[in-house]
Amino acid sequence: MVATQGYTIERFATTKEEGKFEKVSHQEPALDEYQVYVKVKACGVCHTDCLFAGEEGRILGHEAVGEIVDVGTRVTNVSKGDLVGYAYMKSSCLSCMECYSGNDIMCRKRSMFPEGRNNGYAYGAICDARFVYPIPKGIEAKHAGPLMCAGSTMFSAIYQGNVRPTDRIAIVGIGGLGHLGLQFARAWGCHVTAISTSRNKEAEARKFGAHDFLVSSEFTPEFIEKAEKFDVIISTVSVDIDYDVYLDLLKPYFAKVLPFLLDQKNFTGAILGGRKINTLMLDFAARHNIRAQIEEYPMTVEGVEKAYHRMHEGTARYRAVLVVPSDTEKEVQATAVSEKPKEQKSAEGH
Ligand SMILES: [Zn+2]
Ligand SMILES: [Zn+2]
Repeated sequence: MVATQGYTIERFATTKEEGKFEKVSHQEPALDEYQVYVKVKACGVCHTDCLFAGEEGRILGHEAVGEIVDVGTRVTNVSKGDLVGYAYMKSSCLSCMECYSGNDIMCRKRSMFPEGRNNGYAYGAICDARFVYPIPKGIEAKHAGPLMCAGSTMFSAIYQGNVRPTDRIAIVGIGGLGHLGLQFARAWGCHVTAISTSRNKEAEARKFGAHDFLVSSEFTPEFIEKAEKFDVIISTVSVDIDYDVYLDLLKPYFAKVLPFLLDQKNFTGAILGGRKINTLMLDFAARHNIRAQIEEYPMTVEGVEKAYHRMHEGTARYRAVLVVPSDTEKEVQATAVSEKPKEQKSAEGH
């Protein structure tokens, strides 16, 4: 792999059948002056990947972390050997008011996952060096992966929502996002309540930082009337919840809000962060020892399918992460595959 001649990158592409992947190999050009070549070490499997899984030939994954092995001629912010993450946003125009103000995630000319092929279910990626994030020392690649989307989204909601350390905050849904949300909110200084559909995650939710644990099926009108209300409720679930109930659980006159109903309650959405938020988030996560609880799967066709299945059925505790085998392990696998009879080879989808 010589930089001037480009790169051969092996990746795991979607097929016509959702949840089934195949290993593919692409020839990529040499680096542009602002690009880096990242050798992937790990990638988290996020629910958003499902949105594109029905399209054949897509490369999924937007929670990737790896080592920089090559840099373009004008790259100054990172160097060979650095461990970096890359995420949902791949680039932006760098010259609009959103980009100037640190809100580049809202840039109208941004490039977002799953555009292109340089995503996370792969052994390598060519990235714009200005949109990769050095991982603080002490955070392993497999733990840093889930911070790139799930962590960024939760941190963005707290940071951009102007949550104060004195606030009572509730996190609805204790999964890949929620279990990180509990950790960020606790480290922020808040009083933290986990809200789930069942009791079976209570012990773990408390371990992640929840002071209280509520089960949403127990939200009767009497319960809501007596309950101590929240300054902020963050929902991490991908289905509709009973918003009327949750609005009743909010304190009136929360913070500086848009007029919403007579009590000036605020209802807003949060997308994951751009460069400012991600940089602050990684620094904060390192300082407070915030880590995803992960299930590890090898970055192989079988491993990708298993991890995807765990995420898709909602059973991963709490984030499935694909870990790239070492080069030696990859060679052993390649030899094993080439020794198989022909019909088995094609069954693997190579
Ligand atoms: Zn995601
Ligand atoms: Zn812009």
